[in-house]
Formats: sequence, structure tokens, C-alpha cells
Amino acid sequence: MNLNRRTFVASTALAAVFGLNSRLIINVAAAAQVTADPAKPFTRYKIGDAEVTAIYDGVWERPYKPNLVANASVDDVKAALTRAGLTDAFLTLPFTVSVIKQGDEVILCDAGTGGQVVPTAGKFLDSFKAAGFDPAKVGKILISHCHPDHIFGLMEKDTNAPVYANAEILISDVEYKWWTDPSLIDKVPDDRKPLVKCIQATFPTWKNITQVSGEKEVAKGLRFVETPGHTPGHRAFHLASGNAQHMFSNDTMYMPALNVAHPDWMGAYDQDGPTAVNSRQKLMDRLVAEKLGLSGYHFPFPGYGSLAKDGADYVLTIDKA
Ligand SMILES: [Zn+2]
Repeated sequence: MNLNRRTFVASTALAAVFGLNSRLIINVAAAAQVTADPAKPFTRYKIGDAEVTAIYDGVWERPYKPNLVANASVDDVKAALTRAGLTDAFLTLPFTVSVIKQGDEVILCDAGTGGQVVPTAGKFLDSFKAAGFDPAKVGKILISHCHPDHIFGLMEKDTNAPVYANAEILISDVEYKWWTDPSLIDKVPDDRKPLVKCIQATFPTWKNITQVSGEKEVAKGLRFVETPGHTPGHRAFHLASGNAQHMFSNDTMYMPALNVAHPDWMGAYDQDGPTAVNSRQKLMDRLVAEKLGLSGYHFPFPGYGSLAKDGADYVLTIDKA
């Protein structure tokens, strides 16, 4: 075992399956940050000929909410966190944007929080510049789904003006149509209405959004992978370069201590629990079978590593920053 790596050993519990239709709730009240930020806010690695830079945006020490996992008790959730070496005082939810550079093309995988989700996140642009990138030269931005922590970095604070007016923003057609449906506002709970209004007031006015159908290739060797459930059109991204292959799993398994250890757990942040569980299981089995590298948006920084199976358990190994 490589001691420079952190390993989550996970056990697959078989639990009853319940329906769940909760949604992400944004709580901006944050106490003083306990989780240390990485000393260096970016780390580079290679996937074939592509260079990927993991760029730190911050962390959310997220308070528990009732029914956090529909089919597990809070005690079981806390035990899973402790087993993964995390505090059980709150959920530790870091944000890491992966930046892919192929030749001169710079591609963002999601856009960070834009400092509009929690006060302890919003460091992406500073970290991005520290890593030597110029925001004006971003060519494409792939959006996994429309939760605030993935899209608010596209919008200037207060004005919602586009931060990347010249970049092509690529988003699943299913996701785009769901969030921009005028009838949606009457269907979502009150805490979701501001997000729906924000998206509907901005995205249709932007000329640089491209809707992507199915698993189409969106850049050289880079394609969307259908992983619905977390949201209706959630997508992972698959990159093939040279002999290397890599999966940006995004929020398919957003908290590995919970979702990798218990793929069948239906978290309150998954909009459609059973569909999310199905997508997660399918993707995890593909990662193991094809021995793909992977990166997760909320994995411990720098958020990339590999997934293997040990008996019935999944083992996620994350490289150390
Ligand atoms: Zn997320």
C-alpha cells in the first residue's frame, strides 16, 4: 500500500430502498472553518497527453439535516464518516474544479461556487490564476448539473453577469430543459425557488450555452456520461487520451465516505434516490471493470485516484496533494 495515499475502505450494506424527493438546501450560516485548506490550492496530473489541474475552491462544513440519508440512521452515517477518518461533527464537503488542458484548449469541469454558496468557498478564481491560467482564455466549461455549488461560479456575484462570456458552456439537454421549464417554479419547494428563478433569468439570455444530447463527444476524447438521479440530467465526464482513460464522476458519488461505502444509501441531495443509486452502482462497476482513474468534485482534495473492489467492498484510493 502506498502510504502517500488515503484509502477509504467501504462496506456495501444492503438496506431497504425508499423513495426520496428532497433537494439540496443552501445554508449560508457557517461557523469558523475547522477543516484545513490545502497548503497549495492546485495539483497537476497527466491523463495521456492531457494535463489536468485540480483546483481548490474551498470547503463546506455542512451541518446535518434531518433524513440526510433516507435509508440509514444518523448514527450509521456518523459511523461511516468516522470509519473514513473524517469528523462526525459535520459533513466535510470540499469543492474541487478539474481543469483539462489539451494543446492550447482549456476546459473547466464545472465552475465552482463563485463565493455564493458558503463563506468558506469561492477561492477558485484566485487558485486558477495562481496555477497560471487566464480566465479570459477558457474555451469550454462542462456543467455536470445545475446545483449552486457547480454553476454559481459562472455568474458574477450580485449581478449574475457571465464570468466567462467567451467560453462555450456545455450542459446536458435534459438538465437544461428541466431547469428552464417555466412550470418548474410551481413544482419545487420554497427553498429551491430562488435557484430556479436565477437560472431562468440568466441561462436563456446567454448566447454561449450548448445543449448536449446523450453521451456525445464535446471535445477531443472527452464525452458526457449519462448518470441521472442526483439531478435529472446529471452527467459524468469521460476523458480518453493516448492509452489513458479517466472519469470525472462529479456528484455521482459526492461524499465517498457515504456513497462509496454504501452505494445504496439514498442521500437527501439526490433528487431521485433510486435512479441515483442505479447510476452510482453502474458507474462504480464500470470504473472497477475498466480500471479507470477518477476524480470527484467533492472528494478530499486533490480529489483524484482510483476505485477497486475487495470482496464485496469498494476501495477508493485518493492521491495525496
Ligand atoms: Zn455538488
